[in-house]
Amino acid sequence: MMESRAAVFREIGAAVAIERVTLDPPGPTEVRVRIAAVGLCRTDYHVMRGERRVAMQPMVLGHEAAGVVEHIGDAVSGINAGDHVILTFIPACGTCHWCRQGLHHLCAEGPRITQGPQLDGTYRRRDRDGHAVGAFCMIGAFAERTIVDQASAIVIDKDIPFDLASLVACGVPAGVGAARHRARVQPGESVLVVGCGGDGMNVVQGARLCGASQIIAADIAPAKLDWAREFGATHGVNAQGEALTRAVLELTSGIGVNHAFVCIDPPATLLPAFRATAKGGNVVVTALTPDTVTEIKIPPLELFVTQKAIMGAVYGFASPRLQIPELLGLYRKGAIKLRELITRRYRLDEINQGYADLDAGKNLRGVVVFDD
Ligand SMILES: [Zn+2]
Ligand SMILES: [Zn+2]
Repeated sequence: MMESRAAVFREIGAAVAIERVTLDPPGPTEVRVRIAAVGLCRTDYHVMRGERRVAMQPMVLGHEAAGVVEHIGDAVSGINAGDHVILTFIPACGTCHWCRQGLHHLCAEGPRITQGPQLDGTYRRRDRDGHAVGAFCMIGAFAERTIVDQASAIVIDKDIPFDLASLVACGVPAGVGAARHRARVQPGESVLVVGCGGDGMNVVQGARLCGASQIIAADIAPAKLDWAREFGATHGVNAQGEALTRAVLELTSGIGVNHAFVCIDPPATLLPAFRATAKGGNVVVTALTPDTVTEIKIPPLELFVTQKAIMGAVYGFASPRLQIPELLGLYRKGAIKLRELITRRYRLDEINQGYADLDAGKNLRGVVVFDD
């Protein structure tokens, strides 16, 4: 048994508190990981605010993480103590219909990641009163240490700094992958990215990687439009709603873009993005919508006659097991930026400040780093 400081989510709308939780030893297929860095992704914030419901509290949130394996269960294979790992927020069970085709981002266990227990259905964390504590995404990385199934860990080379590696657990594959694997942006095409936070900025650099000739970044924060240019955007639009659609049509001779990416607030941004898309083009949703929103209005006749496709992309629509090593290789070659994504580093006990900064639009990505 072991203790770990962790940021525990207990109440919707309240700050998360740093507590000591007890960790049981890893099960046969599990590994104990000392977290080195964990990104402050918006998804955890949606949970804290009750916009993405999880099945239980208390729960340790945090899913964009990298660290060092300290201890492994008896039946673990391919992971050893001392290995550096990136944790994946969808486990790859390896045996379901999807995993057998290499489509780990569609793993049948994916819907269980908001439940709280480990992959095997039991718990490894307890609070001071002995109550079971859940782990968001079967990871629970807002903590000094965590225990995850081997299905949630990918061994990486040791030369990649942990703070950069953590981003490749979620934001980078989500955004870069959406451009490469979902929309399959082709050289010379035009792209619109609505919302240039962590995901959106990675869509921008994914589109650049694909050879898009026109990359229009849209955000209501002028600083993010400046950042987007550094990541490859050719144009910046500070507008929303109908004004956004108008601005994009002006920039594309009235045609619209080949691919529009909805990276923030889909209920408000999907229709303007859809209408800024060329006939026959793609609209890709990469952002989470609060589960209280049950429909988005797109006129069906408009969908039919314009022959556009509306699609979702989780994890960049490609297996994290294939994508993560590939993205680290692209970083090494200088083909994608990682360091420039990090605006600020925080200690674990500054996590609420980190999310306040995210909410205020100050951060592209805040990262909690541990120095022990
Ligand atoms: Zn995330
Ligand atoms: Zn599976």
